[in-house]
Amino acid sequence: MGRDTGKKGQKMAAEYLRDRFKDIGVPPLSRAGVDGGYFQAYELIESRKGSIAVRSRNHELRWPQEILYFSEHMTEGLVLDWLIPLKATKPLDSILVARAGVVIDARNLELGPSGFRGLSEPLERAKSAGYKAVFIILQEEAKQQMDGLVHADGTSMRLPSPEDGAQARNGATQVFYLTANGLSKLAGRRGTRLLLKPKARRVKAGISIEVTSREKRIQAENVLAYIEGSDLREEVVVVTAHYDHIGVENGVVYNGADDDGSGTVALLEIAQAFTAAKSVGRGPRRSILVMPVSGEEKGLLGSRYYSDNPVFPLEQTVSNLNIDMIGRVDSAHSASPPYVYIIGSDRLSSDLHAVNEAANSAHTRIVLDYTFNAEDDPNRFYYRSDHYNFARKGVPSIFFFSGVHEDYHQPGDDVEKIRFDLLESRARLVFHTAWLLANRNERIRTDKPIR
Ligand SMILES: [Zn+2]
Repeated sequence: MGRDTGKKGQKMAAEYLRDRFKDIGVPPLSRAGVDGGYFQAYELIESRKGSIAVRSRNHELRWPQEILYFSEHMTEGLVLDWLIPLKATKPLDSILVARAGVVIDARNLELGPSGFRGLSEPLERAKSAGYKAVFIILQEEAKQQMDGLVHADGTSMRLPSPEDGAQARNGATQVFYLTANGLSKLAGRRGTRLLLKPKARRVKAGISIEVTSREKRIQAENVLAYIEGSDLREEVVVVTAHYDHIGVENGVVYNGADDDGSGTVALLEIAQAFTAAKSVGRGPRRSILVMPVSGEEKGLLGSRYYSDNPVFPLEQTVSNLNIDMIGRVDSAHSASPPYVYIIGSDRLSSDLHAVNEAANSAHTRIVLDYTFNAEDDPNRFYYRSDHYNFARKGVPSIFFFSGVHEDYHQPGDDVEKIRFDLLESRARLVFHTAWLLANRNERIRTDKPIR
């Protein structure tokens, strides 16, 4: 079912992973923050877009065709009795501010790459004056250009934050974009008079704004397989991959075999290898936390939650090895020997970089491609998968990756296209690197600043 975070598919995948870890012989974990078994549950807020209805007495403007907005700041409805043009004249009294919407005529402004030139100043002025609603009037053409930025039936997710208090958000100004035609639907001829006569002080309007509940609290899980080490067990090496994907869209299941089914099954193999070693008395000295995380596709949320609420102290976390898509071949390597992209290995720790290279030359001998490790690489992959939530806290991290391909985030990311021979050798490299990190005498040093 595409393993969409917080949805049935993700829950099924979490249960599957838990059952596999049990079968492998990983014991349940009893530690604060874990449910006594294998799950670290965390809360998310799912927001639905298009939750603000704007209407005049006899017409409701349709979102996003007739009225467009992006971030939705309003949590409560309100009635606007007045529309005013934003001028530098003396400010209105607070009662009027609370009942007035500001109209900014942006029809002559040029749409640049970062918005309309010349709009930010009046917008800031309206915000600091305390207006709750600003209506920005666009040319039809500009409005159409902006329509392309909206995904009409989209939802988004985030972790709860202290700013979630309704008070904080009610203080914000809601910005609406519409055309002159839209404005006349909303406020009749009086509304368009504001555009014709910018010296008009204010016009009467009867606009009601309603907000339907758009937020749902949902729960998601990270799955934790903890293999306790021996003499250095207080230190832990964390191995991650995200097991969520993008779910079902328009009835089509997005299987995400490479993204990140490949990394997830690699984690099962790695957990099994460490457990097997331990069961014959040859287990790792440091502890290993194999952790399939969720919420990655929604903004690296599961790993962010873990790194903010770590089950094992981050100061004792030696490294994070993160796998995200290691089952395919990208166009740059169609004729290449077996390879993997290594991203981040030297960003915080020269030792980590050396250990990974040593593991490869001793065991896997695949091509380590550092293309995406360049600090000025425009793809910025270093910031785009779960390891970054560890790196931002100073934990040396590597992102193992085989590159994007034509099925990336498409329904065709299916298991038939996985190159299992390559998936195996890449997974072995991650295992051997984790093994060396867990067993060397000295913990790897961090010798570079966080960036
Ligand atoms: Zn991914």
